[in-house]
Amino acid sequence: MNSIRSSQCFECETGTYKEVSVNYYSQLSDGRGCVTKNVTISRCDSCGAEIFDSKASQLIENNIKRLFPDYYECSRTKRTEG
Ligand SMILES: [Zn+2]
Repeated sequence: MNSIRSSQCFECETGTYKEVSVNYYSQLSDGRGCVTKNVTISRCDSCGAEIFDSKASQLIENNIKRLFPDYYECSRTKRTEG
């Protein structure tokens, strides 16, 4: 394991990550879209690479579940024929 400072960008290795609050757009696999507001992510100030921590991912997932309660249900029960 390398001990990389969490603030240094993995992509360009010159920029540093800054916490930014964004409205994150998720494209669901069935074509619908879901916007999660005020998601705090880390974005590189040099190349723009974005990192979602587990908290941000959870926030987005919960928002999708709340707005589209049938979505996960749907993908769980959907089976391919045959
Ligand atoms: Zn970068």
